[in-house]
Amino acid sequence: MHPKTHDQIIDEIFTLFRQRGDMEYGESVTERMHALQCGVLAQDEGQSAELVAASFLHDIGHLVHNMGEDIADQGVDAKHEDLGDAWLRGYFPPEVTEPVRMHVDAKRYLCTVDPEYRAGLSPASEQSFILQGGEMSPEELAAFSASPHFDNAITLRRYDDTGKDPNLAEVDLERFRPVLLEVLERHAATT
Ligand code: FE
Repeated sequence: MHPKTHDQIIDEIFTLFRQRGDMEYGESVTERMHALQCGVLAQDEGQSAELVAASFLHDIGHLVHNMGEDIADQGVDAKHEDLGDAWLRGYFPPEVTEPVRMHVDAKRYLCTVDPEYRAGLSPASEQSFILQGGEMSPEELAAFSASPHFDNAITLRRYDDTGKDPNLAEVDLERFRPVLLEVLERHAATT
C-alpha cells in the first residue's frame, strides 16, 4: 500500500467535515462551523501553523466516532479528545496532537484554578465538565501544567470557548489546506 500524500490526508479530513460536520456542536453552531472558527481565531492571532492546525482539528474525535450525536445527554463521555489524538497521531506531530488530547483537561484545569472561568461555562459545558471528571486534584494540576504543551493547550481552550458564533459566515475548508500542508511537510522532513 502506498502511503497517502499530504493532499490525500487533507482531503480525508475535509471529507469528514463535509460529510459529518453538519452535526450540532451545540449552542447553535455545527461541528464544522466550530472547527473553522477556532482555526480562524488562531490564525488571526498569528499562532504557529501547528497551533492553527490543532485548533481547527481539536474536535475531530467527534467526527471519527460512531456513537451518535446525543452521547453526552446519555451520560456517556465519548472521550473525543483521545479519539482525536489517536486519529491525528498517524499524520501529525505532538505539537498538534498534544493540545488536542489536552483540550478537555485544559477546561478542567481552568475550572479548578479560575472560579470566574467556571462560572462562565454554558449549561452544556458544565454538564460535560462533570462527566469529564470535574475539578483537578493538586497532583493533576501539577502534572498538567508541567507539560511542554501546556500553554498551547490553554490557548486552544480559549478558542474552543469563543469559536461558536452562530452569526459568523462560514469560511471555506480550503482556507486551511496551506497551513495543514505546511505542518505535514515540516513533520515529514523531521521523521
Ligand atoms: Fe471544541
